[in-house]
Amino acid sequence: MSEYESLKEKLFNNKVCGWETISEEEKQKINTFGDEYIYFLNKAKTEREAAEFAKEMLQKNGFIDIRQKMVLEPGDKVYYVNREKSIYIAVIGTDPLESGLNIIGAHIDSPRLDLKPNPLYEDTGFAYLKTHYYGGIKKYQWTTIPLSIHGVIVKTNGEKIKINIGEDENDPAFVITDLLPHLAQDQMEKKLKEGISGEDLNLLIGSIPYGDDKTSEKVKLNILKILNEKYGITEKDLLSSELELVPAFKARSLGFDRSMVAGYGQDDRVCAYAEIRAMLSVHNPRKTAVCILSDKEEIGSMGNTGMESHVFDTFVAELLNKRGENRPNLLDKVFCNSRMLSADVDAALDPIYASVSEKNNASFLGYGIGFNKYTGSRGKSGASDANAEYVAEIRAMLESNNIAYQIGELGKVDVGGGGTIAYILANKGIDVIDCGVPVLSMHSPYEVTSKFDIYESYRTYEAFMK
Ligand code: MN
Ligand code: MN
Repeated sequence: MSEYESLKEKLFNNKVCGWETISEEEKQKINTFGDEYIYFLNKAKTEREAAEFAKEMLQKNGFIDIRQKMVLEPGDKVYYVNREKSIYIAVIGTDPLESGLNIIGAHIDSPRLDLKPNPLYEDTGFAYLKTHYYGGIKKYQWTTIPLSIHGVIVKTNGEKIKINIGEDENDPAFVITDLLPHLAQDQMEKKLKEGISGEDLNLLIGSIPYGDDKTSEKVKLNILKILNEKYGITEKDLLSSELELVPAFKARSLGFDRSMVAGYGQDDRVCAYAEIRAMLSVHNPRKTAVCILSDKEEIGSMGNTGMESHVFDTFVAELLNKRGENRPNLLDKVFCNSRMLSADVDAALDPIYASVSEKNNASFLGYGIGFNKYTGSRGKSGASDANAEYVAEIRAMLESNNIAYQIGELGKVDVGGGGTIAYILANKGIDVIDCGVPVLSMHSPYEVTSKFDIYESYRTYEAFMK
């Protein structure tokens, strides 16, 4: 190496592809972790399913529902499930809670199609379910792909019927149709965002009529007869249901080299999974480690299962109560002494659409966990901007643990933007930075991530809590 080359090596922020830096043994670990993650993605396609999966993992690893504990001791592992859609988890540290918590927060809701309250109708011999999309989607991506129906129907007597249909090979599939190109001249002239309208997203669910000549809406009747036989419900019971349509295809390894993961709902269940796995390896920490799996991030974090709700504050107050530490206003102080990683996905540079990214400040697939010092849009509007002091602290942790990381922005200035739950925790006084797995085709029915980045995110979350 020439003098100049070695000086360059010393002074530049050299960005390297992670796959070029690892041993065969590390590659094995990355692939195994990737396979376990794919299993999770296929089992947990909604926030309720992800919360359930997480709860089972926690229970298997010695975590206990916090309501069963009157007193908490260092080393104790507890969780609280908020209305089946969101979870807060803690491993109690030896230091007093007052000295602050190490918090990691991801979200387990993903863009999808929800059913309307009165979804079922018949038109020209077909039965359909009307939908209302949830989160930022490109509507055309949701037509002509197999969809499955997940969720709950709750009867007035409190009975809750869990629905999961369209995933099993033997289940029927469901689809939203689209116009054939031969007759789509007018549609193709429209702007992409207007090509399919929200009211066109109607799920095709049947075509056999039931009843005699005098009966109207015979196909709808047949569907209700089937639903009644299978689930014991009537049309009215759909009023108190939460049914979500998600892509029915399976998450899988992507590429001849199997280096990537393709699958639905990776925003943000990829960070959620890495976070839970990291939490399982935390034993007797000095600072109390806390994990958040939140709901409703994709629609603004509102509501009692979203991050804006005070249920999380109540959970931390419970930790203080059960540690016998609580006193007036202590909660605020705990937050001011705490630090957090907001574990959410990052937009990776896509070479096909490179024009929306600024290369020096973009995250790349396979280059490690992606940090965003700030998010927001235009003049950093709505940004939660991490303080340089905190970024330095996190850098020190990453570099001493030899973790591959990159710090970038969501895209070019003025092109767009986004946000996460970071600002909500920052508003409480917590030091927060966004970091997570870079994604291609974010919010689509089949998102793409790199197994290398998933593993580095897991290692980051683990190092942070330890
Ligand atoms: Mn997200
Ligand atoms: Mn998102």
